[in-house]
Amino acid sequence: MSLIEELLAANERYAATFQQGELPLPPAKKLAIVTCMDARIDPARILGLEEGDAHVIRNAGGRTAEALRSLIISQQLLGTRTIVVIHHTDCGMLTFENADLQRRLREQFGVDASAIDFLPFKDLEQSVRDDIALLRSSPFLLKESEIVGFIYAVHSGRLLPVH
Ligand SMILES: [Zn+2]
Repeated sequence: MSLIEELLAANERYAATFQQGELPLPPAKKLAIVTCMDARIDPARILGLEEGDAHVIRNAGGRTAEALRSLIISQQLLGTRTIVVIHHTDCGMLTFENADLQRRLREQFGVDASAIDFLPFKDLEQSVRDDIALLRSSPFLLKESEIVGFIYAVHSGRLLPVH
C-alpha cells in the first residue's frame, strides 16, 4: 500500500464514525496557537483541545512573523482573543543558519536565495520572547489580546512558561 493509499484508508475509518460536522466556524475558546511544524508536536493533545476549539497556525519554528497574516484573520474575522506561542526543545531551527540553507539552494538549484530569511534561532527562550514582542508591537493585532509563550519539552511532553 502506498503512503497515499494508507492515508486514504485511515480517512475512511475516520469518516465512518465522524460526528463533528455541525461545529461553528469561530474557535469556541477564542484561542489561536502558533507553533512549530515539528512532527512530534500534537497541539490538540498537548493542550486538551477538541475540534472547533482553536486555530493552530504552524510553520518551521512556530515563528510569529510568518503567522501574522493568519493571526490577523483569526482575530478580525473569527473572533480569537488569546494567542499562545509554543516553540520547543530540539527544534530544527536551532541547527542551521540562513547562510547554510541559502548556499544549499544556490548549489542545488542555481538560484540566489540570499533574500530569504528562514528565521532560524540560536536561543530558544529568546526566540519565544522575540516572537511575542513582535506580536505586541504589531499595529494590526488587538492591544487587549492576551499573548503568552511556552517552550514544549519534546522529551517530557511538558510545557514550560517563558517570561
Ligand atoms: Zn521545531
